[in-house]
Amino acid sequence: MHVLLYYKYVDIPNAEQETTKHRALAQSLELKGRIYISSEGINGTCSGTKENIEKYKCALGEHPLFSGIVFKESLSDGHPFKKLFVRQRPEVVTLRQAVSAKEAAPYITPEELHAALERNEDLVLLDMRNDYEAAIGRFRNAKTLTMENFRDLPKFLADLEPYKHRRTVTYCTGGIRCERASALLKLHGFTDVRQLEGGIVTYCEKFPDGFFEGSCFVFDDRMTLRFPGKLPQRFISNCNFCNQPCDRYLDCRFQPCHSLFLCCEACEPTCEGYCKMHATPATQCVA
Ligand SMILES: [Zn+2]
Ligand SMILES: [Zn+2]
Repeated sequence: MHVLLYYKYVDIPNAEQETTKHRALAQSLELKGRIYISSEGINGTCSGTKENIEKYKCALGEHPLFSGIVFKESLSDGHPFKKLFVRQRPEVVTLRQAVSAKEAAPYITPEELHAALERNEDLVLLDMRNDYEAAIGRFRNAKTLTMENFRDLPKFLADLEPYKHRRTVTYCTGGIRCERASALLKLHGFTDVRQLEGGIVTYCEKFPDGFFEGSCFVFDDRMTLRFPGKLPQRFISNCNFCNQPCDRYLDCRFQPCHSLFLCCEACEPTCEGYCKMHATPATQCVA
């Protein structure tokens, strides 16, 4: 299956009608995934056969509102989504802050960022993703946040205060969160912010052996995306049980916990799908 990740901030006059039409299109192409439409734009990640994904991209390319969307594409064994959701939402990415992507910081291209990092220029990379995403992959020396949900970003602005007057570059998976996050930073007095165009995914496609280390978290059943380069895969995280290098997340089977934990294939049969805190005492002995 081919998997798409894309967004576009664009004024959509009749989001409800657009959502209905879009749902019919996605259903006719037997796509699965999550597509959100609001009056401010579209945000989607979906999967389908090569042929149907091509048809979908063409349909969006010909659409007066959605033409020009940049698609990030990857592969998956089977659909990495169980269902198709096409929903209308107040925001395409929930932040609940009165900042518009129209006030976003200017872009820095992956090539420009890579060159600046190679020259060891003075700049601070700000990771705008959640802690469990940054835990398995991030730019070397990036400032990461302990946030669990993007909508909590305003609470973490104080952590970023020291970088207010530094040269900063924000990044996220595909770029959509940075459109809002960079606008929020500007509003809070950050004087030199840029956002990485196309996010980690685009950077790693161009520079798989570059300054991004580890794997990229994705919000589908694959959970991690690797970018094979010439060098062997680098891991920056470890299995919670045997401590071997590992980027494989499982969702704790203990329903009240339901948290993500790192577990290698070898340890999965012993932990039986429970995180270290909720695994059986026998498993804890092995660990
Ligand atoms: Zn292990
Ligand atoms: Zn648990």
